[in-house]
Amino acid sequence: MKQNNELPAAAQKRKKHLRIKTAAAILIRLVFFVLMPAAFAAGFNGVKSLVTSIGKGEALGMNGFILTLIGLAGFTIVFGRFFCGYVCAFGTLGDAVYALSGLIQKKIFKRKKQISFPEKTVPFLQKIKYIILFLIVILCAVGVYGNLKGYSPWDVFSKLTTFKLPDEGQLIGIILLILIIIGMALQKRFFCQFLCPMGAVFAFLPVMPFSAIRSHKDSCLKGCSACRKNCPVHIKPGEDQFRDGECIACEKCMNTCPKSNISRPTQMIIKNEIVSLIFRALIFLAMGSFLGMCRFW
Ligand code: SF4
Ligand code: SF4
Ligand code: SF4
Repeated sequence: MKQNNELPAAAQKRKKHLRIKTAAAILIRLVFFVLMPAAFAAGFNGVKSLVTSIGKGEALGMNGFILTLIGLAGFTIVFGRFFCGYVCAFGTLGDAVYALSGLIQKKIFKRKKQISFPEKTVPFLQKIKYIILFLIVILCAVGVYGNLKGYSPWDVFSKLTTFKLPDEGQLIGIILLILIIIGMALQKRFFCQFLCPMGAVFAFLPVMPFSAIRSHKDSCLKGCSACRKNCPVHIKPGEDQFRDGECIACEKCMNTCPKSNISRPTQMIIKNEIVSLIFRALIFLAMGSFLGMCRFW
């Protein structure tokens, strides 16, 4: 009898913990959205700056964008893609659009299941971003990319976040941003999964073993696939080994697993998931503020 009472109590405690964790995650994402709305563009400018210098045969000089890229890459190697999960304003926009689309589909169109792409097509579509990255690198290396003005949906979005309207010359960027937002309404993390060249760069980076998220499949519930179903990029941590680079470290799998079967080794040091989340956010905030200041040097 005592055991029966203990189980619901533990479940209640876990539920409360997850509610606080979700609230903390939303707050962290809002803070980064307001404070660093263009961080993703700055990081990718670092990639472009690097490749353009190589293409021109120039000596590699250090500038604020390359420093930002180094900072983002270093943070990703140590902590996983925390940037994509919690910091990037474009990722937050994608989640907000998808959530709003779900609400509209449920309340107005009375759909029980939100529209999304067939799961089988996802691994194939995820490769498109590598092709985009490859094309951008080639265009930078041959010196063409710098002459393409007004094509970037990121630049349009960055402008909007500063409460400025895009220029007339950014018409193609505006159209692309509208198409991307439509995609965001139809698929979780549409841009991140399928199109983002910065995401492709992150996916190539290794993650230190102590920060990699793993499930312990021996103790999984039979027939359970809750983690994969709730993962915005459709992977099961630790099992889909060759797609682990896609993991955006959002921790939705950890929050969903009915057996608390998903973890990362750092949890042995910081046991409380909320404290761990806030700790990483504070380190990123300190690093991001430093890198932001470097751009004015
Ligand atoms: S994949 Fe790209 S757009 Fe998505 S969160 Fe990461 S950097 Fe931002
Ligand atoms: S749900 Fe888990 S496996 Fe999927 S992206 Fe988020 S942290 Fe990674
Ligand atoms: S949600 Fe947990 S129990 Fe279910 S498959 Fe994933 S790791 Fe296993």
